[in-house]
Amino acid sequence: MSRADFDFIVIGAGIAGASAAYELQARGRTLLLEREPLPGHHTTGRSAAFLVESYGCPTVQRLTRAGRGFLENPPGGFATHPILEPRPVLWIARPDQANRLIDATNQAIATGAKLERIDLSEAHALCPVLRTGYASAAVIEPDARHIDVAGLLDAYLRGFRLRGGELETRAEVLALHSRASGWEVRTPAGNHGGAVVVNAAGAWADRIGQLAGATPIGLQPMRRTAITFDPPPAAEIQRWPCLIDADEDFYLKPEGTQLLASPCDETPFPPCDVTPDDLEVALAAERVMAATTLELRHIGRRWAGLRSFVADRAPVIGADPARPGFFWLAGQGGFGIMTSSSAARALAGLIVDGQLPPDLQRAGLSREDLSAGRRSISHSASTVLV
Ligand SMILES: Cc1cc2nc3c(=O)[nH]c(=O)nc-3n(C[C@H](O)[C@H](O)[C@H](O)COP(=O)(O)OP(=O)(O)OC[C@H]3O[C@@H](n4cnc5c(N)ncnc54)[C@H](O)[C@@H]3O)c2cc1C
Repeated sequence: MSRADFDFIVIGAGIAGASAAYELQARGRTLLLEREPLPGHHTTGRSAAFLVESYGCPTVQRLTRAGRGFLENPPGGFATHPILEPRPVLWIARPDQANRLIDATNQAIATGAKLERIDLSEAHALCPVLRTGYASAAVIEPDARHIDVAGLLDAYLRGFRLRGGELETRAEVLALHSRASGWEVRTPAGNHGGAVVVNAAGAWADRIGQLAGATPIGLQPMRRTAITFDPPPAAEIQRWPCLIDADEDFYLKPEGTQLLASPCDETPFPPCDVTPDDLEVALAAERVMAATTLELRHIGRRWAGLRSFVADRAPVIGADPARPGFFWLAGQGGFGIMTSSSAARALAGLIVDGQLPPDLQRAGLSREDLSAGRRSISHSASTVLV
């Protein structure tokens, strides 16, 4: 017997599940289930917190642009303080990377990103620690932003509860059974019935798909490492842009009173509570010291998280092709925070109205770009990671 019947049951309370639950509760009775004691414990709590319109594939860039307005001007009472803060991004290229930077810049401009090629003296003025002679080309995205990720997650969850939504933590989904009018969802505390189930389980999304009898979307979680360290004394790091290498070999970002760096590792991993690797920590330090005059003598925090991608590196948002009432919200890779609001609105539109919201269509997005059945995803019953 089900304890209650819901219109929508969302699995996973990271940024994807929290934003989806917030949108869906405005359209029907929604239950959000999270395995951990606290929401946001996995990838969401481990991000670098950028909003960069020139990041990712064209579908991701369109989602980021389309979702930016909500994060910049959320509805009254949504958040207690601004979610975004200015943090320009400076893309740099060594001589061997310069052509790739120009190509990527042209592609991102074509999707609507605001990017400017600047000369190296300007790049050095913006980022005084950039090592002379390292870069041969630089491009700036002046309107990139830092995201208050914890504040955004809290705001989605608070808004969800204020709308009447129910969150259960320590509620691991153990089984999913389709029934005449939707799904029966089994957790250790009992069963729940829902007309629609949303799979927002991050790195575990293919496992949840398997519980529902869906064909895997070929999701590959990949570990990414980050570290923080002290800036040089008296350095005005709040004026610095975020520095990203053209091939994403490393990035460096002011983070409060510290600097944050990553070697941009992408090591395939099974879904788990991933921890940082010493070699990647050392690589982060090495790449930052090669590109800048910074010296890393002491590393502060170090952590790792799983960024999960499907083959074409665009997110999967929409109905499962073969399991009625089962929807995917997965594959958010390294862009799940910046795309959270547009992805959640896309999902709610597809579930409730059967189409993307008009503003997302105007942004150049289509249901096919996001669908779980698209050709550019490798579907194979054998690709679920164990
Ligand atoms: C180092 C690093 C830097 C990043 N930088 C950025 C950035 O600058 N900007 C950006 O936009 N993105 C960034 N990302 C990516 C971003 O963090 C992710 O895309 C996003 O957090 C994914 O959110 P999610 O909700 O899908 O996954 P998660 O946050 O992992 O949430 C999934 C949830 O599902 C739960 N779950 C799983 N199985 C079950 C089950 N059976 N029952 C119940 N619950 C279950 C898990 O416990 C988890 O809480 C970065 C990621 C990393 C690791």
